[in-house]
Amino acid sequence: MAQAPSGPNWQARPDQMNQAQRYPLWRVSARGVHRVIVLSHNLVGCYTHFYGGRTLPCGDEECLACDNGNARRWHGWLHTIGVESRAQGILELTSACALPIDEYFRAHRTLRAAMLTARRTPAKPNGRVHIDLTPTEADRTDLPKGVDVRLVLNHLWEISERRATTKANQTAPPQTTQPKIADDTHPRSNTA
Ligand SMILES: [Zn+2]
Repeated sequence: MAQAPSGPNWQARPDQMNQAQRYPLWRVSARGVHRVIVLSHNLVGCYTHFYGGRTLPCGDEECLACDNGNARRWHGWLHTIGVESRAQGILELTSACALPIDEYFRAHRTLRAAMLTARRTPAKPNGRVHIDLTPTEADRTDLPKGVDVRLVLNHLWEISERRATTKANQTAPPQTTQPKIADDTHPRSNTA
């Protein structure tokens, strides 16, 4: 596209990748209850490793963390807005949350506009995450648009990888940054 010489490339909105930087990642805290409205249509998830001091997606067939015997865990993420704060963030959920979310999705055909409460039981950092989902009267069209959480996570993981690779004494990082998303219906057969 033609542009004025030496002028800025004026745009009404930042591109999608830059928008991805706006959303913090929220983990369910040991104490307290998260009360959010879901903005995503559905859950997006993948297997991850806590490896080399950071969370990274499992590289599946070519994964250094798997090769080194590091356990992988499934996580799912939703774009949400706080009921009281009205702040938006990406809420990280665990595999224990997948079944009630799936049941809700089947019944309501979307997660968008659902009220989600999440807490840990027992109230410890490694306590199991329990969620409740209930429909709300919120008009789906009035809620903020759901962001592609895969873009947000890619952005977070690339930053994490870049930081890691700048540490001279760091072990070799995993070779892939591409997450396996939930609609990949062929998880590795050798793990639960
Ligand atoms: Zn792996």
